[in-house]
Amino acid sequence: MRISDYPFTEDAAGAVREAGYSLESLLTKTSFKAVRSRAMQRVEGALSGSISESSPQSQAESLSELLSYPLARVMISCLGDEILLRRYALAEAKLAFRRLQGEKDSLPALAEDLGIYPQGRGPYKIHFSEYIRAAHGMKSPKWKLTNRDLSQGYLTVTEEELKRLMEEAARVRILKGLPLSVDEPICAALEEYLQPLREQLEALKARERVDLGAVEEGAFPPCIKRMLTDVARGVNLAHSARFALVSFLLQINMTVDEVTSLFNTSPDFDPERTRYQVEHIAGASGTRYKPPACATMATYGNCPGEDELCRRIRHPLSYYRRRLGTFRPLSQKEPGAGT
Ligand code: SF4
Repeated sequence: MRISDYPFTEDAAGAVREAGYSLESLLTKTSFKAVRSRAMQRVEGALSGSISESSPQSQAESLSELLSYPLARVMISCLGDEILLRRYALAEAKLAFRRLQGEKDSLPALAEDLGIYPQGRGPYKIHFSEYIRAAHGMKSPKWKLTNRDLSQGYLTVTEEELKRLMEEAARVRILKGLPLSVDEPICAALEEYLQPLREQLEALKARERVDLGAVEEGAFPPCIKRMLTDVARGVNLAHSARFALVSFLLQINMTVDEVTSLFNTSPDFDPERTRYQVEHIAGASGTRYKPPACATMATYGNCPGEDELCRRIRHPLSYYRRRLGTFRPLSQKEPGAGT
């Protein structure tokens, strides 16, 4: 096991401290250019969804790989984009997961560093409290405690499942403490790396937006209009309706801030929790969610009944695009949410 492969562990943090290099030297010394370039690559990986592998061949290259992690955290903090932070934590955790595929004997020690204490040599027994802590952010039903066999406080996971739990624990740890509080002169010293990253971030956001121009409330389909009316009246929307509304509004170019603030009339409005949920749907976890099609809306009781245009479309976004066409011409070819 190479410690530089898992730079978020306590051992790695200790190795960085022991190396004793100042942040200033990482920012300015020519000999650390490779560290800065690799840190930038890590952030680019957050933008593209996958951090490229590096295979250090020497001690110096391993050190460079190790030091690039704290520097990438500094870069990410300078960029100051909430969604990018979450994408970054996920991309780092996915890189760790890929590297874990080559581990066997060192798995338990790595897991322990992440707060999971597996027993046995695989399949592993894990105490339910550690399991809950590690798995609580995992959405698939198979991770629910009620779907696992529990015996005397322990449950069994396969080696692959242990690695997934470790990936999730790593993601949470990487996200913890971000953004760092970074002084402006430090960000300024990294500008040559930050500027291209900023451009890539803007390009990513532009790609992910469906270019429908300004929001036209008059073109909203009946389902979305009803949900907005309910929200304005303080009605607490069901989860499926809330998801449909948020994903629809984000698709038509409303910002996370705008969508979050819509809910401040809800009886259970919790700004942080709402923002987290909106960011998640906006793509913070790596998946930018699309609103459900009409058939799904109807299944969940979120279709208030069709009007004439509804009968000719199969997706609320198609309704909006068609209606929008009667307000003003579309500037771009319609992206495919299917009619
Ligand atoms: S048919 Fe589709 S677009 Fe029309 S109200 Fe129902 S869900 Fe909305």
